[in-house]
Amino acid sequence: MQKNDKAIIALLIVWAFLVNAALGVYYNIGYAITNFFIILIVFRYSKLLASALVIIYSVIACLLFPVVANFGKPNINMVSSLLYANNEEIFSTIKSLHLIWILIGIATLVLGLFLVKFRSRWPVIRHKTALLLLVITAAGILIPPYLEDNERGFADDVKYPPFIALKKTWDAFAAIDKTNKMIAQGEISKSDFSPRLINNPRYHTFIMVIDESVRRDYMQVYGAPVDDTPFLSRSAGTFFNNYVSAGFSTVPSLTHSLLRVGSGGLQYHNSVIRLAQAAGLETSWISNQGFYGYYDAPLAVIGKQADRAYFAKLGNAELKKYTPDSLLMPEIMKSLAAKKPKLVIIHLVGSHPDFCTRVNDRYDIKLKDIPHSCYVQSIRNTDRLLSDITAAASHAGDKWSMLYFGDHGLSHSPATGELLHRDGAKENYMPPFAVIDYDSREKKHIAALRSGFDFQRIFAQWIGVVEPLLNAGCDYFSEQACLNKARVLDGNMQLMDFSSLPSDPPRGW
Ligand SMILES: [Zn+2]
Repeated sequence: MQKNDKAIIALLIVWAFLVNAALGVYYNIGYAITNFFIILIVFRYSKLLASALVIIYSVIACLLFPVVANFGKPNINMVSSLLYANNEEIFSTIKSLHLIWILIGIATLVLGLFLVKFRSRWPVIRHKTALLLLVITAAGILIPPYLEDNERGFADDVKYPPFIALKKTWDAFAAIDKTNKMIAQGEISKSDFSPRLINNPRYHTFIMVIDESVRRDYMQVYGAPVDDTPFLSRSAGTFFNNYVSAGFSTVPSLTHSLLRVGSGGLQYHNSVIRLAQAAGLETSWISNQGFYGYYDAPLAVIGKQADRAYFAKLGNAELKKYTPDSLLMPEIMKSLAAKKPKLVIIHLVGSHPDFCTRVNDRYDIKLKDIPHSCYVQSIRNTDRLLSDITAAASHAGDKWSMLYFGDHGLSHSPATGELLHRDGAKENYMPPFAVIDYDSREKKHIAALRSGFDFQRIFAQWIGVVEPLLNAGCDYFSEQACLNKARVLDGNMQLMDFSSLPSDPPRGW
C-alpha cells in the first residue's frame, strides 16, 4: 500500500463520517465505519456502483447538511414543507440557513467527487474479507434494534443514520398520502345530516375554541386559588362543572366528540362542520396544531371540511417550539370579518406539555415549582386570547356566541409528579366547558354530568338546530340529567367507567 492510498482511505473515512453528520448524527464512529465498510464491499464487486453510491450520498449530504443543522433530522415537517410550502416560505427557509453548514455541505460533495475521481486508489478487498465485513456491517446495523426491548417495530429501532433518514422520509410521504386520500374521500362523501332550525337564530357568529390539555381545576373560574382566568371569571355565561371528555389525548377525544360514531366507527362525513354547513353556517377551521403529522391528520381531515381552513403548521404540531396561539389572531379576524352567519373553530396548542415552552419560559404567577407556574400561565395566556377573540367579534359588530372547551385534562405522574397525558385519573378527563354569549347576563354553573360523547348533541343545541340522526331530546344547557354515568376511552381505546377512576388533586399551591 502506498502512502497516498493511506491518505485516500483516511479521506474515505472522513467522508463516511460526514455523510452521517449531514443526517444529524455527529458523534457515532461506529456508523461512520459502517458507511466505509459498505463502500468497500460494494467496490469489491462493482466500481461503478460504488462510485454512484458515493456521488448520491454526497449530493444528499450537500443538500441536507444546512437543513438538518437548522431544523433537525428528516421528518414530516420537512417533507410536507418541501411539498407544499409556497415560494415565500421556501425563500425564508433558505435565508435562515447558516453559511457555515452550507459550506460544510459543499465540502462534503467536493470530497465525494474527489474520491470518485481517484477511485483507482481505493483499496480492493478480497472476497473473503468482503464477506467478513458484510457480516460485521449487518451485525452492527441489525443487532442493536434486536436487543431493544420496547413495543415499537424492529425497523423503528434501527439506528443506522442513512436508514433512519430514508425511513422517516418514506413514512412522511406515506402519512401525507394517507391524509390526502382521507381528505379527498371526505370531500366526496356527503353528510347524512339534515338539521332543521328550531328558532330564529339569536346569534350570527358561533365561535368554538378548542383548548388543549387544560384541567378545569387549575382554573380560577372553576375555583382554583390562582388568578389565571381574569376574563372567564368576570364573564357571564354557562359553565359546565362536570363535563367529561371522551378521551385523555387529543385525537381519540376530539374525534369521538366532533364526529358521529356509528356502528362502523367514526363517521368523518358526519362532523360538526358538516352539521353546521347543513344548518347554513359558513365554516372556518383555524388551527395552531399540525396538519400532516401522525397525530394531527385525523383533525386535519375534519378541519379541511371547513369552507375556509387554515393550519399554522404543515407538518406536526411542533410542540417543542414556542408558537403562541395569539399568532392565529390575524386569521381569526379574517374569518370574523365574513358577513354571513358563520362558525369559526379555533384549535389551540393551549397548555400542551412542555408548559414552559408554551409560555416561552415567562410566567407572572409563581407557584411551588416552575412547571406548574408555566402551566397556569399557559391557561392565563389562553384566557387573554379568549378575551381578544370576543373583543374582535364585538368590534366586528357581531351577535356572537362562544363555546370554549378543552380536549382533555392531564394528571400527575406517580413517579415524577409531572402533569402528563394519562388514563389513570379523573382529572385526565376534566377539561373546561363553557358558553359565553355577547348578551350573557349572568354566570350560570351547570352541575349535571355531560359527556364528550354527547358533544354533537350539545353542539346542535348550541347552534340552534335539531338533527334527527342525533336524537337528542335533552336540554344540555340546563340541570336536566341527560346521562347517569360517564364513560371514557382508556389507553387501549376501551370504554371504562369514569367514576371508577381515582382522583388526582391539583398540586403546586
Ligand atoms: Zn390534547
